Amino acid sequence: MNKAASTQRKRRKGPPSMRFKFDGDWWTVKVQRPPSKELCEGMAHYRRRTVYLHPKAVSGNLLGIVAHELAHVTMPCVDETNIRDHERLVSVVVRWAASLNEGKVTIGQHRADK
Ligand SMILES: [Zn+2]
Repeated sequence: MNKAASTQRKRRKGPPSMRFKFDGDWWTVKVQRPPSKELCEGMAHYRRRTVYLHPKAVSGNLLGIVAHELAHVTMPCVDETNIRDHERLVSVVVRWAASLNEGKVTIGQHRADK
């Protein structure tokens, strides 16, 4: 069985998930209510190396939540106020730039394993 098929098979169990490598560690992203913080739209759990995206975030403020939680992953010492500023600015600039491209957001072909 090739690796892609193996990964797809794993995805059928439990919540939808993917993995990425950051600073030498593999992290998991799960579309699942953040444990013990079910009302939060997202959470970066450092010990588990897991980012939780609330299922509602996927169809709502997805870009903002992803920008917010990944800022926590990549800049763990930054305080919540600055992380929220980062989320707000990413959202505002991407919305503006997308408006120049018929509202479409383009995404680069980055790899998860670097
Ligand atoms: Zn936060």
